[in-house]
Amino acid sequence: MNTSAIELREVPDSDLWLEIDSRIPFRISADRAGDMGPSGEPAPHRERVLKASGLDPARVLGVRQTHSTIVCDLRSGPPRLDSVEADGMIFDISRFAAGVTVADCMPVLLTVAESATAALLHSGWKGTGIVREAVDELVRITRSPASSISAILGPCICGRCYAVPAERAELFRRRFGEEAGFHRDGDSYIDLRAANVRLLEEADIARATVVRNCTVCDSRLGSYRRDGPAFRRMLAVAGPFGE
Ligand SMILES: [Zn+2]
Repeated sequence: MNTSAIELREVPDSDLWLEIDSRIPFRISADRAGDMGPSGEPAPHRERVLKASGLDPARVLGVRQTHSTIVCDLRSGPPRLDSVEADGMIFDISRFAAGVTVADCMPVLLTVAESATAALLHSGWKGTGIVREAVDELVRITRSPASSISAILGPCICGRCYAVPAERAELFRRRFGEEAGFHRDGDSYIDLRAANVRLLEEADIARATVVRNCTVCDSRLGSYRRDGPAFRRMLAVAGPFGE
């Protein structure tokens, strides 16, 4: 697997979004855009921000996120029920945008070469492993090999900022390798990027692009760890922007 690192870019003339990838496009709302949650239910502020950005909220797919490894298939459009509990969506990126709310957890976009079928995921520590579920599901649905899949790992809390109980670091080290769970100066840490890169390597996909920016270190981003109960959830959106 080819792995490269990128930095978030400012979007010209927008104080609402930061750009993860310009081709898709794949963007994340800035902390100053305000709280974009909760997931899976109506949120007037989120609707205002989406409309101001030329996006029809009814065509931005979302799910009620529960820190699971569940990936649902929304290729035929928005769910008919009020909400679907899942942390990943497979969707048609030529017809819809999809959004996940995050604040320290990692948004992940998987795309398939020569296909409009994509997956957008919310991957926190509890749901780490959802990338593997999504790769398997994309392979099954598109009948393309894993080697046709590319991943973009969006901004999240970095390993240096993510102190956790020792048992959790140990769990990550055992399951995802020594870079994903480690102990330093008496404290224990996990690294979501390292864990997901390991999982994607094992899945044998073509390439992973990893965003370097940390939600705690970069004040343009929202962070529960940094801001506590007053934190603001960001929305990571992939798919056609209206502007
Ligand atoms: Zn950090």
